[in-house]
Amino acid sequence: MDGVVDGFWGAVGNTPLIRLRRASEATGCEILGKAEFMNPGGSVKDRAALGILKAAMAEGRLVPGQAGTIVEGTAGNTGIGIALAANALGWRSVIVVPETQSREKLDYLRMIGADLRLVPPKPASDPGHYVNVSRRLAEELGAVWANQFDNPANALAHEATTGPEIWDQTDGRVDAFTCACGTGGTLAGVARALKARKPGVRIVLADPGGSGLLDWVKTGTPKAEGSSITEGIGQAARAPGNLAQARDLIDDAVRIEDPAMLEQVFDLQMQEGISVGGSAGLNVAAAIRVARDLGPGHTVVTILCDGAARYQSKLFNPAFLRGRGLPTPPWMDAAG
Ligand code: PMP
Repeated sequence: MDGVVDGFWGAVGNTPLIRLRRASEATGCEILGKAEFMNPGGSVKDRAALGILKAAMAEGRLVPGQAGTIVEGTAGNTGIGIALAANALGWRSVIVVPETQSREKLDYLRMIGADLRLVPPKPASDPGHYVNVSRRLAEELGAVWANQFDNPANALAHEATTGPEIWDQTDGRVDAFTCACGTGGTLAGVARALKARKPGVRIVLADPGGSGLLDWVKTGTPKAEGSSITEGIGQAARAPGNLAQARDLIDDAVRIEDPAMLEQVFDLQMQEGISVGGSAGLNVAAAIRVARDLGPGHTVVTILCDGAARYQSKLFNPAFLRGRGLPTPPWMDAAG
């Protein structure tokens, strides 16, 4: 049966590429969003999780049906992908997450049986930073450390799947690709796949406030200023290995602040029925910026990383937003 896939692992990827009506009309371009929120774990990170676990299997460090444990430090989505993929093959997952991440993602991780370890937010250089904690835990437990920031299997998964899918879905007519970076696996992998097929395709890194990656692209040195309520994207102090190895492929970077991100999140949901999280809203705002720079008649692709329900208590909470001086969803905000 042609249309049947095999379990969680078979259901990851091959997501629709959605034409975003408002963004396209506003720019005279085709602005297309890769619907990664439709993956079975609900985010783009299912692809990285599978890539990393497949690499560990190829090395004989994980065997389906035999006891195995994977440890990862994550803003949440990679942990969800790993936990579900591990459940499907009989492995355990230990997931280390900063306690500042949305309640919805933490509840979800508990719900799917991950051994969740919450840690206070710390700078990357601190031994208590969630990535450092996850590395130590993996050593102590003799477990597989997924290491999404520097494990090349992450970007390779996008080079092998996300990038070629975008190429095929646009019949090669993609002119530019933009997205924000957490590990940079998505941007680096898609950039490699697209530039190999069409060297002139424009690759633009989208960056939230509080991240140093825009300056890293422009000058080689990260410089972080400001802040953002987005989760899973931006790096203050360093470009992760998965991103750094693709620096030569990145043509430009744009900064998108939270009000512009929220405008897209609200409008996509209420005017197009596409309900996405903060990084996806930021990506669409970036795609509009890139399209305006290119001029009408171009095709710009971005990533709709995950769904809005993962951030209900923040992005759709008027009190939370008002406390930060940010725009509120007009249809939810009795106080206007
Ligand atoms: N958006 C969200 C919601 C994420 O969780 C992540 C990953 N942390 C990203 C975007 C960025 O993806 P990548 O790690 O491939 O750069």
